[in-house]
This record gives sequence, structure tokens and C-alpha cells, in this order.
Amino acid sequence: MDNVCTKCSGNPVYFRKYSGERLCSECFSSSIIEKARRTIKKHKMLKYGEKIAVGVSGGKDSLALLDILMKMQRENEYELVAITIDEGIKNYREEAVELAIKACEKYNVEHVNMSFRELFGFTLDNVLENRNDVKNTSCSICGPLRRRGIELAAKKIGVNTIATGHNLDDMLQTFMINLLSGDVYRIKQSKPYSTPKEGFEFKKIKPFMEIYENEIAFYSFQNNLPFQSTDCPHMNENIRNELRDVVNNLEKNHPGIKFSLMKSMEDITENIELKPKKLVTCLVCGNNSSSNPCSVCKTISLSEKLTKSNS
Ligand SMILES: [Zn+2]
Ligand SMILES: [Zn+2]
Repeated sequence: MDNVCTKCSGNPVYFRKYSGERLCSECFSSSIIEKARRTIKKHKMLKYGEKIAVGVSGGKDSLALLDILMKMQRENEYELVAITIDEGIKNYREEAVELAIKACEKYNVEHVNMSFRELFGFTLDNVLENRNDVKNTSCSICGPLRRRGIELAAKKIGVNTIATGHNLDDMLQTFMINLLSGDVYRIKQSKPYSTPKEGFEFKKIKPFMEIYENEIAFYSFQNNLPFQSTDCPHMNENIRNELRDVVNNLEKNHPGIKFSLMKSMEDITENIELKPKKLVTCLVCGNNSSSNPCSVCKTISLSEKLTKSNS
């Protein structure tokens, strides 16, 4: 790469196409930490002294989040505890759990590791083996259960702020999935950050929601953070993957288009009013939802049925 680092005149290793900046390794890393800090501040994600449960899967995003929350920390600004949910995918999750344990040891962060088996009485493999003619994709079963799992673990240790490593690309994929499935209401609910309100026990924050996925990956490489390199064996079942390519191809020819798409999403969640849909209380878990039981509880009972019928 020619020229010099835009910030310090050092040796550039990264060209940020959407801004035209060339950055050396150090300036690149501090720019990512600064971006996360700004997102947290802008959306008032944290209060001083708060205890945060960080969902650590062992993938690059969650390990980078743990690293950055550690580095960003200014004298007891907040307290961290890591939660890992082992869904039980054989020959895949073991490596990730190992990496999560090692990272928590390195940062000296309390680590809570819970499995689907402990939480729900079955593993994801159990459910998928018995799927037969049930059309649900692996991700549509695993996703809600992982979310509920993190909540149950957070509840157990008495923490009600949950931080996850979802990046800008994840947010856009979710936005487009909801758009393509005709569910604008879900877009409205899928706010990138939330404050606990009636029926929602947890505050959920996504400090990387304004950072490109490839920049999180580059951050992990530049900072020598080991992360799981193998993909989930079920990832190709998910439309998310197709959308990742679509958005990345658009970004290639139109640098910055991801930010425009994100702005559309934010305007829908924050500035556009939808005719209120009646919410009901899920009689299983007590959360407010558009249906009773809520979709998460439905997934849990479907999984229970599938694993029981064949055991
Ligand atoms: Zn520099
Ligand atoms: Zn429910």
C-alpha cells in the first residue's frame, strides 16, 4: 500500500474505502475501539458501574467485543461477566468453548458456561436428528434457544444487561430478513439497543452495531485474538448467508451503502410509527409478545416434542 497512515504518517496496513483513510495497525485498532465507544455513548447503552453479561460464543465478534470492552474500561466504569451457551453441535462447539474459556482466563473475567442440555434438557444435535419433515431451519431453532439461554444464564447470575458482538452486517441481514418475510413489526422490535421496559426484563446492547464485519475480523488479526475458524456446519441453510454476499457485493461498488441501509433501519425503528399491534402476555415465559405462546416458547416446545418422540 502506498502513502502513509492518514492519522500518524506511519506504515498503513488498511485502506478504509468508505472514508478514504489509510491506517497503520495501531491507528486502525484505536479507530475500532473509538467507534464502539461512540456507539455506546450515542445510544446511552451503559450506565456507570453497571454489570454487563457479554455473550461469548468463541467466534471473532464476541471475542473482539470482550477484548474491546476490557481495553475501553476506565476505572470501574463497568463490571464484566462472560456467558457461553453450548448448543451441542458435535465437532464444532468444543473448539469455540475452549477459546472462550482461554479468553476469560486471559482477561481474568468470570465465565458462566451453560449447555442446551442443562438449560432445556436436549442438545441441538438431538433436535436436528429428529427433525424429519419439520421445515424449520437449524438457525431458526438454534437462534431463539441461544437467546433464551443467555437470558436464563444472565438471570441466574443476577445481571440484566446483555452485550452481544452483533456487527453492522449482522444488523443489516436481520433487517433484510424481516423485510423479505413481510414483517415490518419485527424490524420495529429489533431495535439495536433496548432499555428494560414492562415485559422486557433485559437491556440488550450491541456495541459493534455500527462496525463492518470485515473490520472486526481485521481487528482480531491485528490484535492476535485467536477465534474459531470453522464455520457452523448448518450455516448454509440460512438465507442470512445469501444476504451477506448481496450486501457485500453492493458495498464493493458503492462504498458506504451499508451505512445508508442502516440509516433506513434506524428510521423505521425510531422515527416511523406503525399502527400498534396488540401485544399479549406469553403464558409460558411471561414476556410481551404478538402471540401466546411467544415464538421462542413455541420453538422450545417444538424441540422438546421432537426429542421426546424419538427417545
Ligand atoms: Zn497511524
Ligand atoms: Zn414465551
